[in-house]
Amino acid sequence: MTEKKWVYLFSEVEAAEKAVGGDWEDVRALLGGKGSGLADMTRANVPVPPGFTVTTEACNAYLNADEKFPPGMWEQELASMRYVEGATGKKFGDVSNPLLVSCRSGAKFSMPGMMDTVLNIGLNDETAKGIAKQTGDDRFVYDAYRRLLEMFGEVVLGIPDEAFEGPMDEYKEEKGVKSDTELSAEDWKNLVEKFKVVVREHLGFDFPQDPYEQLRLATEAVFKSWFGKRAVDYRNAAGIAHDLGTGVNIQTMVFGNMGWDSGTGVAFTRDPATGEAIMYGDYLMNAQGEDVVAGIRNTEKIANLEKDMPAAFQEFVEICDKLERHYTDMQDVEFTIEQNKLWMLQTRTGKRTAKAAVKIAVDMVNEGLISKEEGIIRVQPDDVDTLLHPQFDLGAIEAARKAGTLYASGVNASPGAAVGQVYFDADTAERMAKEEGQDVIMVRPFTKPDDVHGMLAAKGILTSEGGATSHAAVVARQFGVPCVVGAAMIRIDLEKRQMSVDGNVVKNGEWISVDGTTGEVFIGQISTIAPTLEEQTDLLTLLSWADEISATPGIRTAPDGWPTTGLQVWANADYPADARRARSYGAVGIGLCRTEHMFFEQERLPTVQRMILADTSAERKSALDELLPFQRSDFEGLFEAMDGYPVIIRLIDPPLHEFLPSEEELLEEVITMRVKGETLGLAEKEDLLDHVKALHESNPMMGLRGIRLSIMMPEIVEMQVRAIFEAAANVTLKGVHALPEVMIPLTGTVNELNVIQPSLEQIAKEVMQDKGVEFPYKFGTMIEIPRAAVTAGEIADVAEFFSFGTNDLTQMTYGYSRDDAERNFLLKYVEDGILPKNPFQTIDRDGVGRLMEMCVSEGRKNRTDLEVGICGEHGGDPDSIEFCYSIGQNYVSCSPFRIPIARLSAAHAALKYKGVAIMTDN
Ligand code: PEP
Ligand code: MG
Repeated sequence: MTEKKWVYLFSEVEAAEKAVGGDWEDVRALLGGKGSGLADMTRANVPVPPGFTVTTEACNAYLNADEKFPPGMWEQELASMRYVEGATGKKFGDVSNPLLVSCRSGAKFSMPGMMDTVLNIGLNDETAKGIAKQTGDDRFVYDAYRRLLEMFGEVVLGIPDEAFEGPMDEYKEEKGVKSDTELSAEDWKNLVEKFKVVVREHLGFDFPQDPYEQLRLATEAVFKSWFGKRAVDYRNAAGIAHDLGTGVNIQTMVFGNMGWDSGTGVAFTRDPATGEAIMYGDYLMNAQGEDVVAGIRNTEKIANLEKDMPAAFQEFVEICDKLERHYTDMQDVEFTIEQNKLWMLQTRTGKRTAKAAVKIAVDMVNEGLISKEEGIIRVQPDDVDTLLHPQFDLGAIEAARKAGTLYASGVNASPGAAVGQVYFDADTAERMAKEEGQDVIMVRPFTKPDDVHGMLAAKGILTSEGGATSHAAVVARQFGVPCVVGAAMIRIDLEKRQMSVDGNVVKNGEWISVDGTTGEVFIGQISTIAPTLEEQTDLLTLLSWADEISATPGIRTAPDGWPTTGLQVWANADYPADARRARSYGAVGIGLCRTEHMFFEQERLPTVQRMILADTSAERKSALDELLPFQRSDFEGLFEAMDGYPVIIRLIDPPLHEFLPSEEELLEEVITMRVKGETLGLAEKEDLLDHVKALHESNPMMGLRGIRLSIMMPEIVEMQVRAIFEAAANVTLKGVHALPEVMIPLTGTVNELNVIQPSLEQIAKEVMQDKGVEFPYKFGTMIEIPRAAVTAGEIADVAEFFSFGTNDLTQMTYGYSRDDAERNFLLKYVEDGILPKNPFQTIDRDGVGRLMEMCVSEGRKNRTDLEVGICGEHGGDPDSIEFCYSIGQNYVSCSPFRIPIARLSAAHAALKYKGVAIMTDN
């Protein structure tokens, strides 16, 4: 049996493909994103320094075997080193012509800055001399050597970074220099010696001089870093599985700090903040890569490279173009120019803001690089959410500027507006956000991977150092946290926990406003506004493609007679203004109008109360007659706004006591009046109190509400149905295409429908006859009670449509009070993993979902064209939308602001289930 292959040369990409069966995703899983990218670039003849990848499988084997290399792995690593030596003509550990390598992590999914890297492996006291002789550049060599000591010390040997930074800062201060570039060869030599002492003092042994020992320890360190705290935190936040493991990439070092004909940089093939099709990035001449990313030196814009090194720039642009076409996505590349020779060190799909994600997807479809379907898949529902996040009110910004509260400005690294209280370290920021519920802005000179938990908890991030590709910028962009970096005028005093600009001090806990879109920072709180969808033309284009996909006939396959287009998005809207907004956001129906909301209006409530308190049916009818014109005109507005689209109007649902004053308050008032001897109005108050008491229920959520109320007090719903049909008739006569659907809430047994629905249908017919108009209409029910879901077949004999009220359905399936569960136990349940997610946000597929699935299936057995939708809060949740699609629903209905997210989610579901038969058990 041949030995398992743990190591692949960059030139062995075909072997890797063969090993996993040809699928590129599996190659990425085996070699990691970085390793597979390097191998793929090598195959495409892009200049990549020779090297190899130790597989993620080797990492997992190592971690599962008590941190022992799997058999044969180290030998394969050594054999690959031989190969690299051959390719470069250099020899690892050789004194006269030594090979130096880097050791970097690289998991399947990119985790920027989360894992560890060691550069310049192979340097020791002897090889350093050798390279110095070879290059004649002592300064370069000893700078490289001290970097190895520092990185190896920190990453591999676990020495805290301050241990190296302290002596370095002291040394620079002694010498009176600010920038590293001012240090001479002699200085670096001295620092190398100082750093060796640091290692010895911390660990009691010397820095390993044996290059192979360095290589072995570095490989192990990368493996181990997979379970380092910051990597675990990042994976938890980004939803990356913990069992993927990381690859280890060993690659020939090339040097951007070999003089002023050398340089290094990072770039995105498009602007990752805006999505514009321009090269975006930074570089530094005579520097190593970490200098660019760490933001220690002020970088140059990538466009300036054309001036500095025209030939290398030209080649770079061509390679970037080739890479973008090859991967058909925006790339994030790292490059180094060593003595005028360009080397590409990495390419990966670039992280981007939500805005950029949408623009790049739309542009690439228009450029013919990708299909519309691919464009849709590239944008996540969360991106749409971010795009509709608040921005600062421009008027308020102007006023703040005039008032002189503009504090500082920096690089607009991640767009959006954030207002919060400042904290100067990640732990405090996280604590204040999570435990105190504060809106927090995390302020640091620069961020490191250890800070990610604070960054994620913060509403905004501000740094005084670093650039557009610094750690803070990359992480903030990925998670949609507004961020300003490199606001260099700010002096941060971490000890005093304050910052200042020209003596203007902002202390721990004080408020600032950070504009990640413009890069400006203001003192105090500036008001924000939600951006309008109409301004976002790219998003509108993308959503129109999403709708096209959802509406494609046959995108779902289903048994005969079932609707076969995708899922539509409707809106929950109570008023004509909501309905108009819903239409402008792209809703093609109203899935829920909660009519009782109209009863709460000030001018109507007294009449509603009179109606409830009426002692006789005649009194009740007279109050209802007063309410009818109000309801009718509300409904006319809804039908007009939704001209040609269905409008589902739900009949009264809540228990009646909700419309009356609270029992406690009334009692208090009555007692006070009695004590004070006030008699005026006392009798009325006492009477009201008696009524309220009479309506008291121990469990009102399970009491006299919904259809039960309609049966006990039919006059209310009779008035509502009359108002609905009169309104529909009136607007129809004006030429509006009204499509009313009357929804009866809280049905538990078909008998309830049998009692109430025929009389309501009779009213509908009478109104149409009286008015002399005809229009299509439906009578249907909400499915909110498990019994209704289970007996859906017989219910569908009467109801012409179902709408899942998943708020109540979840409440009643779990037996959790939707008003109290979160505050009492539910969040802990989710935190402790008793529940995977909050079931009031995301449909519990195993429980509530099974009821829903059964309900659709049973219902359609008896009524093939049964219209099924959802109007609970889950209708705006992407995961729940996918589920609704999968069980064959016709639409989801959600709040107007969630509509864009729902439209995209519906298209995602359609593409995911394309060609998959739905509910084939029928
Ligand atoms: C539901 O129960 O899901 C629903 C939409 O009705 P309400 O929230 O008004 O009870
Ligand atoms: Mg309900």
